Amino acid sequence: MEARPVPFPEVPPSLSARFEGSFAYLTIRDRLPTILTRAIDTIHRNKNKFFEEYGEEGTQAEKAAISFLSKLRNELQTDKPVLPLADGLVDVDAWNRYLQRQQALRVDREPVSWFKSAWLYMECYMYRRIQEALCLNPPMNDFDVFAEGKTQSFFDSQQAIIAICTHVQEVKKNLKPMSEALLMEEFLKLLQVSLWGNKCDLSISAGQENSQKSSPLDSLEALKPFILVDDSRMVWSSLVPAHQFNGEEKTSKRVDIILDNAGFELMTDLVLADFLISAGLAKEVHFHGKSMPWFVSDVTSRDFEWTIRQLTAANHKWMSMCGGQWKRNLKEGMWSYHDHPFWTLPHEYCDMASDAPDLYSTLQASDLILFKGDLNYRKLTSDRDWAHTVEFDQALRGFQPAPLCSLRTLKANVQVGLQPNQGENLTAQEPDWMTSGKYAVVQFSSPHRK
Ligand SMILES: [Mg+2]
Repeated sequence: MEARPVPFPEVPPSLSARFEGSFAYLTIRDRLPTILTRAIDTIHRNKNKFFEEYGEEGTQAEKAAISFLSKLRNELQTDKPVLPLADGLVDVDAWNRYLQRQQALRVDREPVSWFKSAWLYMECYMYRRIQEALCLNPPMNDFDVFAEGKTQSFFDSQQAIIAICTHVQEVKKNLKPMSEALLMEEFLKLLQVSLWGNKCDLSISAGQENSQKSSPLDSLEALKPFILVDDSRMVWSSLVPAHQFNGEEKTSKRVDIILDNAGFELMTDLVLADFLISAGLAKEVHFHGKSMPWFVSDVTSRDFEWTIRQLTAANHKWMSMCGGQWKRNLKEGMWSYHDHPFWTLPHEYCDMASDAPDLYSTLQASDLILFKGDLNYRKLTSDRDWAHTVEFDQALRGFQPAPLCSLRTLKANVQVGLQPNQGENLTAQEPDWMTSGKYAVVQFSSPHRK
């Protein structure tokens, strides 16, 4: 048992592979080793590149990293104890303290191990160990084993990207005389595009191609029944309080977007952020990405910059216009990119105020925080076995830096804030509703609502 000694006695246990047959169990047994195998293959496929760039040292590093990752895969598959990190990165102490914390929770004194510990911790730990394999082999410490998949997913989504770039440019042309009702309609549309952009996730497909082929704008109506909780209007009200709409006046609001995946999803987030600034709904947008390759397709600073460069250089008029505007937004400070190490720690977000007080106070200055995707949802709700009817606010366990909203397609079996019987009915119809990515939620929580 790894129940936490917490101030909320009703908190259920963490999801874990120790529940045989659970989604956590299947992920650790099947999906994570597949991701490691693909990482090994990618390094192997690039061996000539390492030799060309670094000579014999590159070849040695490639071999050492592969052997490290093969050993890691074996540790995982045979449920070996979790090892402390030793690569000297800034977050090593935080990780090793977390291991001690998890160990202290084990009443049976058994070592913390892959199939017996919290799934969230173990899944994060695997990605951190992949980083360790590269960091310990210097000429390779900069190599992103997931980069190819991320760029490919961008190119595979080309038509959908053109569609959303064209749409946002057309909306922006007509902003001036736009009524509040129309502006809200456009906002809700682009919020949904960003929501469904979250379907394109390479970690859930274990790196298999998972891109957006058609224009998402055409399918929004058809997708509406699959949004299980839709608090979008509360999100709108947090930006434009009732009776305060003034088409002329510029807002001073700041929106933070805690990004999930690169490729098409990032494009949908950038388009939404462009609209927020252009429509005067926000004065600043702060993007938060990962400081190392994470969960296969998550955005790093390199992916963020690469994406904007691709747009700027694109042969398509509206794409390159978006790219040019976005470059200016970054240069002039309306947009900024941040990557705090806390985002690649295994901590539940209710720990943020004590474990990363600087990040927590940064977020407190926001007017609206959009948390994209499944990993953020799992961390928001502590990745626990909550009843579906538990309120979102309760599952946040005190994490409330500012009004926040989770935009998430469901890919893990944690879901709160549903109506009585809603979850049970879904289970009866579609046993995999929580993990198929077919359903989504827009869940809002605000300290001002209480
Ligand atoms: Mg992701």
